[in-house]
Amino acid sequence: MRIVTSIAAMQRQARQWQRTGKCIGFVPTMGCLHAGHMSLVRETRKRVGKAGKVVVSIYVNPTQFGPKEDFSKYPRDLKRDFKLCRAEGVDVVFTPGDKEMYPGETRSRQCESADEPRFDKRGYSTCVVEEKLSQSMEGTSRPTHFRGVTTVVTKLFNLVLPDVAVFGAKDWQQAAIIKRMVADLNFPLKIIVAPTLRERDGLAMSSRNKYLEGDLRRQATVLWCCIQLARATVKKLKAFPAAKLKAAVKKLVACEPDARLDYVEFFEPDTLSPVSKVTPGTHMALAVFIGKTRLIDNARL
Ligand code: AMP
Repeated sequence: MRIVTSIAAMQRQARQWQRTGKCIGFVPTMGCLHAGHMSLVRETRKRVGKAGKVVVSIYVNPTQFGPKEDFSKYPRDLKRDFKLCRAEGVDVVFTPGDKEMYPGETRSRQCESADEPRFDKRGYSTCVVEEKLSQSMEGTSRPTHFRGVTTVVTKLFNLVLPDVAVFGAKDWQQAAIIKRMVADLNFPLKIIVAPTLRERDGLAMSSRNKYLEGDLRRQATVLWCCIQLARATVKKLKAFPAAKLKAAVKKLVACEPDARLDYVEFFEPDTLSPVSKVTPGTHMALAVFIGKTRLIDNARL
């Protein structure tokens, strides 16, 4: 397994693979890898075959973190990540640095206002923005988040030159936005969305689960309980008013002492358009603060 840290070396490697007809599969991550990430790696290997090449990027992208979010505290463990990738047969781990990705200063400290970008506009001033699917849910709670995601994913696609890129259903809205961006901007690659891996008690695997100490870990299962509540309701009643189901979810979250509902939404899975009646096939997503940790989850009902 090769560890590549420079942009030029990554592009050189990708071009060489392209010239020799190798299929390139790509899994973008922010590291602190867990079984959910590794399931994406396995899916990617399946897609590109033995002769293909699998690239995992590990980059905690500053521009997708809001001014008051956990960028500097985000868990990092590169040594362990390399070990996991090596064991899974990854060909290249790409770990670019901030200085190359966003020339000029990037701010790791908390910023003063939501408008203050994490990058220095004297060194970097181009962004990719999806303007429809990114307006709701995560986009409402984290106004600059998806701009950071679409921008960095575009940059990574230009560096890794993948034929296929695999994203997790865990970040459903993100996957929908990336698919839309790839279609809109004619990126010559295929996007695959792989299922969410969960702990035994239903909690979706996430690097941020590391923050959950003591009873907070137990309380975090409330997201899965909300999904099950919605599933049971739809199974029994076939159609149910979204507003009523939202109220029931809010009540369930309120039962946990350190949990606070940020949002819950019921919507069409592809267009992300909210529905007023929840029926089988409706998609549900929610974000809940467990103490200071913000967790998200989603599922088809
Ligand atoms: P992250 O490192 O959190 O940015 O995630 C990198 C990729 O892994 C994204 O496409 C996520 O959707 C995906 N991912 C994160 N958690 C899971 C999970 N529990 N199951 C499957 N994929 C996941």
